[in-house]
Amino acid sequence: MLKLIKYFLFGSLVIIVLVNFYFHQSSVEASEDQEILREDSVDQLPKFDEFGFSVDSFITQKSILRPNQFLSDILLSYKLPYPQIDKLVKKAKEVFDIRNLRSGQKYSVLVSKDDLQTPCYFIYEESPVKYVVFDLKDTLHVYVEEREVETIIKNSGGIINSSLYETMQENDLDAGLAAKLAEIYAWTIDFYRIQKGDWFKLIYEEKFVEGKSIGTGKILGAEFSHKGEPYYAFNYFDGSEEGYFDESGKGMKKAFLKSPLKFSRITSRFTLKRFHPVQKIFKAHLGTDYAAPKGTPILSVGDGTIEEAGYKQFNGNYVKVKHNSTYTTQYLHMCKIANGIRRGARVKQGEVIGFVGSTGLATGPHVCFRFWKNGKQSDHLKEKFPSSDPVKKEHLREFLIKSSELKKTLDEMDKTKATV
Ligand SMILES: [Zn+2]
Repeated sequence: MLKLIKYFLFGSLVIIVLVNFYFHQSSVEASEDQEILREDSVDQLPKFDEFGFSVDSFITQKSILRPNQFLSDILLSYKLPYPQIDKLVKKAKEVFDIRNLRSGQKYSVLVSKDDLQTPCYFIYEESPVKYVVFDLKDTLHVYVEEREVETIIKNSGGIINSSLYETMQENDLDAGLAAKLAEIYAWTIDFYRIQKGDWFKLIYEEKFVEGKSIGTGKILGAEFSHKGEPYYAFNYFDGSEEGYFDESGKGMKKAFLKSPLKFSRITSRFTLKRFHPVQKIFKAHLGTDYAAPKGTPILSVGDGTIEEAGYKQFNGNYVKVKHNSTYTTQYLHMCKIANGIRRGARVKQGEVIGFVGSTGLATGPHVCFRFWKNGKQSDHLKEKFPSSDPVKKEHLREFLIKSSELKKTLDEMDKTKATV
């Protein structure tokens, strides 16, 4: 609505200027007059504050919301009567819950230029994009406005010196990009084991509001060179699903095997409270038990590196596999650990790492399978894993055209410096 008024005012001014201009053109006056007219008309253009309010009518007083400062505190200090504030809060409910006002966020109060005592608008900036306007005049109404966001595509690169995060900082790149890149390559590259001299190139979005950066958006294309091997990743949205794929259209994510045994039955699920059959007490069971005859091969549910392989009183013979910086799995009560499975060894998905037994605290032969996500034990049966599917056949052609354009840009980029 405000924008409409703004456009309307501006539009009518243009018409006035044009009409004036036309009359002067048609007259026999000297061209000097026209110059003067144009200068005058620039001065006459109404000026607006960042929210679209005329600076001729209002003074915008900007502040930052302090901890424990409520809307009523601010409005009462402007002498707005309490019943009116109460009415406003009720009206606001439909579009904005004032309990969501957060300290540290910007707000503005617009007072009338004619009467500096009267507050006319309270504006709360929820984010660099979204702001809520509380119209404090007789009608009392509340509405949400959004600033226009401009997205600019940027290219950057960097050579790893220490960690990915530090390299991003050294290259003046948004720290959020490190997290996004680590997420894309979670199944491909272990960012705790990247090496000095590894490098990356990125094509990504940066968001701007009124010329000021408000942070990065999506990574559209990336190349990560690890031990001299290039790993490409391209963002693609097929109209219903979005994901990252390599240059041939394969998904960057890999699924885990559903179970560490080929044939098995679940005898005990992950729970925070169960009656322990051996200890005879209620305690958490932070794993899933799969029963199978002694000697049944136990498979690693995904590619990874052996973090632990040994014996502990309760675990019995056990193996712990780190898949990437997000996921780790553990397999307990083995009668025997497979040959070659020791700390530091690499394993493939489906590789035999041991055999079902009942060593440690166990009543019968089974494997207790434990799953960690970001260092926290969780129920893998309830985890939602991202799709590991490739680009669908019907979209492959379009994907290949788009990704090869991005790849060309990446290949032509200089990894050592940003080219915008
Ligand atoms: Zn168990």
